[in-house]
Order: sequence, then C-alpha cells, then structure tokens
Amino acid sequence: MPISNNIADVRRRMAVAARRAGRDPAEISLMAVSKTQPAERIREAYAAGLRLFGENRVQEFAGKAGALGDLADAEWRMIGHLQSNKAAKAVELFGGVDSVDSLRLAERLNAAAADLGKKIAVLIEINVGGETAKSGVAAESEELQELLQGVAGLEHLEFRGLMTVPPFTEDPQQARPYFRKLRELRDQIAGRGLPRIGMQVLSMGMSHDFEVAIEEGSTCVRVGTGIFGERAKA
Ligand SMILES: *Cc1c(COP(=O)(O)O)cnc(C)c1O
Repeated sequence: MPISNNIADVRRRMAVAARRAGRDPAEISLMAVSKTQPAERIREAYAAGLRLFGENRVQEFAGKAGALGDLADAEWRMIGHLQSNKAAKAVELFGGVDSVDSLRLAERLNAAAADLGKKIAVLIEINVGGETAKSGVAAESEELQELLQGVAGLEHLEFRGLMTVPPFTEDPQQARPYFRKLRELRDQIAGRGLPRIGMQVLSMGMSHDFEVAIEEGSTCVRVGTGIFGERAKA
C-alpha cells in the first residue's frame, strides 16, 4: 500500500479511538517513526502531510539529514537511547529528544544547546515495566527525582512531558496498565508544579497498540511499521 493510504488508515483509527474515549482527535499528534527508512520514503510521508518524525540513532540520521534539509517545517525527534557522548551531535540534528533518562544526559544536552544558541524540546523516558534491558528511568526511582529537581538551571531545554515503550505483549490490551501508569505518573508530577517541568505531552503507543494508548490519554503516538510497512531486520 502507498504510504499515503497507510497514513490515512492510521489517522482514521486514531480518530475512532479518540472518540471512543470522548477525546478530540485534534489533540493527538502522529509521529512517523522513520528509523531505517531511506530519505525518499520519508519524503513520501512528508508529501502525504506528516511533519513530525522520530529517529532512534544519531549516526543513521546524520547520514540522511542532508538529503532532507529542504523540508524546512519538518520536526525531527530523537526517540532512541542516547549516550551522553552523542548529545552534542543530537542537538545539532534534532529539534527535540524524547528519550532523556538521566540528569547527566539532560546537562549534556543543555550545554550543547547553549553552545549552539538553541532551545530543544525534551521528554523524560520512563521505563514503566522496570525491564532491565530497556532504556528509560524507573518510575519509582531516585534518578527520576534527581532529574525532576535538577533541571531548574537548564534553560536551553524545554521539558514537555513523558515518553514510554511498555513491555511487548501480543495483545495490546495487556499494555493498558502500563499506559495508565504513565498517565498517572504524569498527573502526579504535573500536580507538584515543579519549576521548568511541563507535563502536557504523553508520548505512548506504537503501531500495534496506539488505539489503547489513545484511550489511556496519549497525546502523541509513534508509528513506524503502520506507516512505512515492516522494517528490514537490522
Ligand atoms: C521503532 C519505534 C517505534 C515504532 O515502532 P512500530 O512498531 O514500527 O510502530 C516507536 N517508538 C520507539 C521508541 C521506537 O524505537
């Protein structure tokens, strides 16, 4: 199927899920996860109207960013695990990092953004399932508290909310408690009114479970396979 048909289908399903939950579909954004996709495929998604793109590797995106530089109003986000030593390169390439999981990384990003005279949008990635092999900061951890309370001076970062990838389950309904947990954590953090910590974004839901995520309050779904088709195995 052409990418434009896939996008129309995803949007339709997003709208149905939103209405089922009594939500306005317009408050949920669709991020095209374009990792492993060549620049031409990304341009196709852009031509079909998408403007928000997620990539998970700094090196990979560095290799194709040049071929996409003319898409001036496209927004590029880093959604994969980011090592501190790649922070500067990430700030150069991306308008935002959705996978901030430590104060140390936030400090590196802030310093790099200050050097470039840039502001970048960030989300805190939460490891809702507490899986050891997964990135993100644990919901009930000292590290999360340290991050939330340590960002006061990081003026080149704009904290906008939380992101998560729940444990994989065949049945998307089984992801529901994790999505709910992220929403509750968001509400709890927002209620504390911490300086410089915005909590308007809940980035959750991927190709196989975005409808459940929308029912649980997602404001941004990240869809790769559902838009571009199956990825070639790395
Ligand atoms: C790859 C990826 C996605 C998209 O996954 P699909 O199942 O292809 O929709 C979403 N979020 C993150 C963090 C990813 O790495």
